[in-house]
Amino acid sequence: MSSWTSLRLSTRFASLPSAFYSQVSPTPLENSRFIAWNEPLALQLGFAPEAHLDAEIKQALSGDAIVSPCQPLAMKYAGHQFGVYNPDLGDGRGLLLGEITAQNGEVFDLHIKGAGLTPYSRMGDGRAVLRSTIREYLCSEAMSGLGIATTRALGMLVSDTPVYREKTEPGALLIRAATSHIRFGHFEHFFYTNQIDHLTLLADKVIEWYWPELSNQAKPYVAMFERIVDNTALMIAKWQAYGFAHGVMNTDNMSVLGQTFDYGPFAFLDDYEPSFICNHSDYQGRYAFDQQPRVALWNLSALAHALSPLIEHQDLEQALANYETLLGRYYSAQMRSKLGLVSAAPQDSELFDDMFTLLADNHTDYTRFFRALSSVDQDDTQAVIDLFIDRDRARAWLERYLARAALELNGAGELLSDEQRCLAMRKVNPKYILRNYLAQIAIDKAEQGDYSEVQHLAALLANPYDEQPSHDVYANLPPSWGKKMEISCSS
Ligand code: AMP
Ligand code: MG
Repeated sequence: MSSWTSLRLSTRFASLPSAFYSQVSPTPLENSRFIAWNEPLALQLGFAPEAHLDAEIKQALSGDAIVSPCQPLAMKYAGHQFGVYNPDLGDGRGLLLGEITAQNGEVFDLHIKGAGLTPYSRMGDGRAVLRSTIREYLCSEAMSGLGIATTRALGMLVSDTPVYREKTEPGALLIRAATSHIRFGHFEHFFYTNQIDHLTLLADKVIEWYWPELSNQAKPYVAMFERIVDNTALMIAKWQAYGFAHGVMNTDNMSVLGQTFDYGPFAFLDDYEPSFICNHSDYQGRYAFDQQPRVALWNLSALAHALSPLIEHQDLEQALANYETLLGRYYSAQMRSKLGLVSAAPQDSELFDDMFTLLADNHTDYTRFFRALSSVDQDDTQAVIDLFIDRDRARAWLERYLARAALELNGAGELLSDEQRCLAMRKVNPKYILRNYLAQIAIDKAEQGDYSEVQHLAALLANPYDEQPSHDVYANLPPSWGKKMEISCSS
């Protein structure tokens, strides 16, 4: 079993000036115990198998004690929440313990969420409840399984500490690992408080830590912002292609690395409904599924404004102007591969538009549609047609699609066979996604002390593209109670 001292730990964020954070000791939870440990990720980070059973490692990662060299701290940031600037944000319940160098040399932050009060807790209690912790654990690992950039979940603990929300709930703690916890809101804080030296230092550190190759460029800050725009465009393209709604795209929840960050009332689409709103406090639909591409640009513009002391206006404008092109390019590539199309043809946009209209009009399940399409050939179209009420229209679209797909060539310059197309499509169209109702079943069991379903789901969703025949029920349509569930935003 590994020991704490054998890990490659560092405290690089803690070495920044005190304006970046407050040092905070975690407030231990009562009788905290692990209910999930992400063994594959742990091994990647240099932990030995079963490392969470080591007393010192458990103490350090649970917030029971500060174990050297960690110097727990609450990061200071600000941000735009629902379009309104809030200067008072920061880690209100999360603490950065330090950084760990993974086996491959990559550096990850170790962050614990639910570790008690900090100077930025405002009206909050510094805690996280079990249900929201399970949702973040499962969804961040599901996103990783899908190949969408995200923060990761290393482990999760439950405790006897009561936490008061609409009802009393068990206090829990998520151990989050991410290559960065720097948000757009970090830059906004230094800009709006006119701490330009710190704004500059932050940009320098982002370049040094994440993109050192940019330091040789003529305009490193411009190159940095271009990277942020690019990574954000790719993340959004993937969200839209996979039917993921984040729900709270405030600028304090936007990672500079373009990783999906801070899982709250998120949802994967069941029926294809473009204007779907997963956050029940979002009365205006600001963060509706089909608004996400626009909101990301709004957020990037807010970041651009915060970077204006470092980057000339026209360079910021130019980088922002590229967003739509990049997003369009990434999104088309994603959708083409979901449809098994290798090349782009002029008639494709009509084929795509008609597909989306058909899906929306028929309230067709988004994920099941693409998975069914990943097994379809000229002789067997029934499984796809069965997903539609208007079967004649579905059949007509499918005929056009199959005729289009039949024109594609494979790598050897021969016509792409149905088998080849389907094989490629099953690698990008998941069979299993974290539907809200599946998470809810796991949460209901966990609240009764049975964590088996959480572990089961985590294992299943780590390989969402594989056929796992004994788990076919997890790919079924949600039951009627499981559609459009109201997920409490109090987490
Ligand atoms: P979120 O909605 O989780 O992105 O959080 C927005 C802000 O509220 C961040 O500054 C969080 O740290 C803070 N916050 C959320 N929940 C709590 C809580 N239970 N206690 C203290 N601060 C919190
Ligand atoms: Mg947040």
